[in-house]
Amino acid sequence: MIKVEGVVKRYEGVIALNDVSFRATEGEFVVLMGPSGSGKSTLIHLIAGLDTPSEGRVMVVGREVSSMNSEERAAFRRENVGIIFQQFYLIPYLTALENVMLAQYLHSIPDRDEALNALKQVGLENRAEHLPGQLSGGEQQRVAIARAIINDPKVILADEPTGNLDAENEEAVLEIFKNLKDDGKILIVATHNSEVAEAGDRILYLHHGMVENKS
Ligand code: ADP
Ligand code: MG
Repeated sequence: MIKVEGVVKRYEGVIALNDVSFRATEGEFVVLMGPSGSGKSTLIHLIAGLDTPSEGRVMVVGREVSSMNSEERAAFRRENVGIIFQQFYLIPYLTALENVMLAQYLHSIPDRDEALNALKQVGLENRAEHLPGQLSGGEQQRVAIARAIINDPKVILADEPTGNLDAENEEAVLEIFKNLKDDGKILIVATHNSEVAEAGDRILYLHHGMVENKS
């Protein structure tokens, strides 16, 4: 379960989130929509424990992320959260397989077969030895997804994951998300894309850092 309660996030002179509350449960795929600057990325960062709120609480799988120090948040993230960004952030001199194995190494122990299996889940078993530069954008994003899911996190967060993808790869990514949902993961996906929005269970609209109640 994710519980966001009365969250305010202020940067110098800017209120990025202004009293946001919502919940998401296991097996739920929540889509975050809203204009640029409405606070989507900020909310994802707070749930990931990449940052802390100015006010309010963020609870993720029974842990109060918002009251952790940065070391505790890093440990929490390794254990519980997979994050996918619009820019894939793969290590350019490591192969697809090594990129996934690095995430295993940072978590616990690298396991080649498991890493290959994760690449298989995203349809890339025959690209394992390629470097990111030898892969298309869609393939790179799928490697990034394999990396995000390799340690079996309960929560998958994605920030405009299909922003750089063509229609075919977007479709592939949505299929992966649906499978993760069926596996009981909690997915929170920020997007401007209506097809991604349709794939989710519900949409949380943000506007000037506030949740809009449309439906
Ligand atoms: P979105 O992802 O919906 O485009 P963001 O969460 O990135 O929105 O940003 C929300 C608001 O917070 C914007 O006004 C943005 O300029 C501001 N903001 C985001 N990150 C920072 C930061 N690190 N420092 C100052 N302002 C920030
Ligand atoms: Mg953003």
